[in-house]
Amino acid sequence: MAKESEGTTYKCASCGEVIHGPCGYCESCAQYYHLTCATSGSQEGTWNCPNCAIQLQMATF
Ligand SMILES: [Zn+2]
Ligand SMILES: [Zn+2]
Repeated sequence: MAKESEGTTYKCASCGEVIHGPCGYCESCAQYYHLTCATSGSQEGTWNCPNCAIQLQMATF
């Protein structure tokens, strides 16, 4: 039986470590990232991980 811990923990899709504190959630790929692991993610409005931010930029232009 899975043990439900208090709160919800997410694993960083970049380094695979559990994220404590603020994290970035990319709505494009539905992945969570340490903000320190995805410093190049977009900051305005919807946060996107670096990989998706690049693709969004390419799609925009
Ligand atoms: Zn990380
Ligand atoms: Zn993404």
